[in-house]
Amino acid sequence: MLVQNRPVAIEGATVPENLGGVSPDRRMLLLPHCLRPSDGCPGRMTKQGLDCSACQRQDCTIWQIIQEAKALGYTNICVAPGGRLAARRVIETAPEAVIAVACNKELREGVEALEAADWPDQPPSVVQVPLLRDGCVDTAVDMDVVHSVLST
Ligand code: SF4
Repeated sequence: MLVQNRPVAIEGATVPENLGGVSPDRRMLLLPHCLRPSDGCPGRMTKQGLDCSACQRQDCTIWQIIQEAKALGYTNICVAPGGRLAARRVIETAPEAVIAVACNKELREGVEALEAADWPDQPPSVVQVPLLRDGCVDTAVDMDVVHSVLST
């Protein structure tokens, strides 16, 4: 896949300059489980995060983002119930870049946890996409921003 190393400016997200040099298969996409619909989400929580693999709920924001990410070549996708599991999965899978969608508090704590962890080389770059509406249930994210970040 052709990748580019160029500065990135996306309104609504904090994007490290090297993101374009990291292909999707070397990135991790982190989504918060609060983006799921509060009514009837069939997902099952596992040690790797929420399992959405058998779900076909096209009205779900998470479903829509996962479909786009997979089509772009992302293979490391985690729907996390909180920052602790998210940080553990980043450390376990050691991606070169992380695209993290979360509320500002979780983003701040997640970045601090990654910076404090032991890395053989250096911690992954973290793209921060704050939620448009937080509050832990039926949250929302700007899908245009997500699309721009995923495809950068
Ligand atoms: S895709 Fe959405 S509705 Fe389906 S299991 Fe995942 S979070 Fe729940």
